[in-house]
Amino acid sequence: MEQFSLYIDGKFVPSDSARTYESLDPYTGEPWAQVADGTAEDVDRAVSAARAALSGPWGALTATDRGELLRTLAGLIARDADRLAELEVRDGGKLLREMAGQAKGLPAWYTYFAGLADKLQGEVIPTGKPNYLVYTRHEPVGVVAAITPWNSPLLLLTWKLAPALAAGCTVVVKPSDYTPASTVALAGLIAEAGFPPGVVNVITGWGPQTGKALSAHPGVDKVAFTGSTETGKAVAHAAADNVTRVTLELGGKSAQVVFADADLDAAANGLVAGVFAAAGQTCLAGSRLLVHESVAERLVGKVVERANQIVIGDPRAEATEMGPLANDRQFAKVLEHFGAAREQGATIACGGEPVPELGGYFVRPTVLTNLPEDARAITEEIFGPVLAVSTFSSEDEAVALANGTPYGLAASVWTKDVHRAHRIAARLRAGTVWVNAYRAVAPQVPFGGFGLSGIGRENGADAIRDYTETKAIWVELSGETRDPFTLG
Ligand code: NAD
Repeated sequence: MEQFSLYIDGKFVPSDSARTYESLDPYTGEPWAQVADGTAEDVDRAVSAARAALSGPWGALTATDRGELLRTLAGLIARDADRLAELEVRDGGKLLREMAGQAKGLPAWYTYFAGLADKLQGEVIPTGKPNYLVYTRHEPVGVVAAITPWNSPLLLLTWKLAPALAAGCTVVVKPSDYTPASTVALAGLIAEAGFPPGVVNVITGWGPQTGKALSAHPGVDKVAFTGSTETGKAVAHAAADNVTRVTLELGGKSAQVVFADADLDAAANGLVAGVFAAAGQTCLAGSRLLVHESVAERLVGKVVERANQIVIGDPRAEATEMGPLANDRQFAKVLEHFGAAREQGATIACGGEPVPELGGYFVRPTVLTNLPEDARAITEEIFGPVLAVSTFSSEDEAVALANGTPYGLAASVWTKDVHRAHRIAARLRAGTVWVNAYRAVAPQVPFGGFGLSGIGRENGADAIRDYTETKAIWVELSGETRDPFTLG
């Protein structure tokens, strides 16, 4: 079995508890790695190392130097992308072709934020007070806790790590207990790139205790969290006690809105990409289809036909289109939703069951129709390959249905009418709206949610600002003595 330890202050070390746990391959169901089971004491050590690093050699680097280190790291990730992808497939069961694509895409994030590192400039601010020169500085917020989920471990970590390092912060990473391997491997590349000890630390561990300790730690200045809305709320509560800054990237129940004039073949393809790719285990899964009643039957027929052809199996095989769900918890959750949909009167247009002959945590791609609008498949994030279909007869109704959940991560509009496309895109309450497309992200483009889908945005030039504190500096120019009892 492969071994994965903690990474603290530039060294791979065992947990304070000396305990380890086994990570399972969700395809075989067999343990394949032993992982250090970190504790609150390990979190303390990592936070201390990260704080010390702020005032060590890292703190003395220029922003240009930091950019150079990030470019070196990008090159090392590109070199080892296949290995990183393989680790993510072993831990999480997602398709090798999906994870290889993600791993090869990571360097673009590091080079993008490397380029921004020395453009984090303050401004000179003209005021109504001629005796003052006023300027701002954007200083690193300090120690960042990056807490990540299991579905795309390195990509979602990178969205935090690249801007945090570009801004001059230090980081303690807490990967998901289900998928720690690729993050520990990345720590090796961070060391090889030449980042000083303590700048990045990794704490693995089974269960919530390390995440809890990190989000409640008074030595952490900012928590950048991606995960479920429920855990995100717990993180925000814990952070609030120390007035620790938070950004939260949480769950979604994203709608794909298809109008009667849409290219239905393209829309069907977008629906498959939106909810069946990665077996629906993406925060931005397009898990609700809202379709104009006049084309509903045709469109659902196309989606069901494609869903029934999806090749399910070994995530490493080139022909496979859907692998297993990532873990036992997720498998049980999706099966429970199948039962609930049946109880609530859904028509199962396809799927709705596991694939026992494959073993592992496989379920069939599922399309549910005739659901009441309060059905759980319409209101709750399932995080599996389950599409809930509703119909509408007018634009207003489409918008009301699309905006009818407390989430607001993503949405799409399918239409050939350019006026309608922009009109609807503006009315949808979602952090990302794709027009005649689904499931595209880029380092340059802000990503995040409205409502229960989160707080803040990752990616895009503004994301680096979330890892800084703005300081205003007032310089008195006249040298005269002023009245101490008036506001200057
Ligand atoms: P999760 O909330 O169970 O866990 C996320 C992380 O938080 C893990 O590292 C976990 O160990 C840790 N954690 C658990 N309890 C904690 C606590 N009390 N305090 C602090 N940390 C704690 O989420 P998951 O099941 O790993 O991932 C799936 C969820 O992530 C889905 O809801 C999905 O929508 C969401 N997600 C959101 C985005 C986005 O960008 N909005 C992206 C991917 C996934």
